[in-house]
Formats: sequence, C-alpha cells, structure tokens
Amino acid sequence: MSAERRSASTRSAAPARGRTSPAAEAKQWEALAEQNPQDREELLVEAAGAWARAGDVEQALATYDRLRVAAGRVEDLVEYARAEGQNLAQPSARAGCAAELAARGSGERWPSARNGPCWCGSSRKDKKCHRGPSESGA
Ligand SMILES: [Zn+2]
Repeated sequence: MSAERRSASTRSAAPARGRTSPAAEAKQWEALAEQNPQDREELLVEAAGAWARAGDVEQALATYDRLRVAAGRVEDLVEYARAEGQNLAQPSARAGCAAELAARGSGERWPSARNGPCWCGSSRKDKKCHRGPSESGA
C-alpha cells in the first residue's frame, strides 16, 4: 500500500506501452528503477506488471512480490473516469481505477496461493484455474 508518488522525471523516460514487447518493457522499467532509487518501488511495480503481461509470473514475483489485483465493476470505472476526466477506454484509466480500488482495500494478493482460491473469484483452486498449465488466456 504505497507507491502513490508520481515523478515527472521518470514518467517522461517511461517506456511506451505497446511499442515494445512486454518483456522488453519490463527490462526498461527495471533499468529505470536502478537509475531512480527514490522511485524504485513504483518503478518495480511497473516492471512486475509488464512481466505479468508477458505471461512470466515467476519473473513478476521475483521483481516485486506484493502485487495485488482488484476486482472492479463497470460502474466503478465509469465513475473513476468521469471524476478524473479520463477516457475510460484508455488502459491508464483502468489501471488508475484498479489502483484506487486496491487502495480502498478491495485488492487481493496476486497470484493466489497454489492451493488457495483463485484470485479471479472462480472458487476453484489457483493451481486448477489461472495458474494451471492449461490456462487458455481467459
Ligand atoms: Zn482463476
């Protein structure tokens, strides 16, 4: 429950999502974290998120082991986008909304424990749901 600071200097140097592969983006965030120790935690969160998008859960956890997911409703996103003056179709609006939900305490640790209920709320065990080798990109 930290990393709420935003640094203009590191933001301007931030990798542009979508222009490189998620793994390349993760490495860029990690390099920025090394260069900007004052923003290290926030930058490592970005790196871990990129590793997660790359599908590399182990690397995401090795980078930052306090990731959380927050389940949100469409109404939450609409309300957030309106309040912040953002376009709700933009990934940044979804990320900001999720961060706000997590800050309000509705986040859950990600990934779940192997034998615990999956973070997605399916009520199946994590290892039989999103962690399973047969995960089909849900
Ligand atoms: Zn699941």
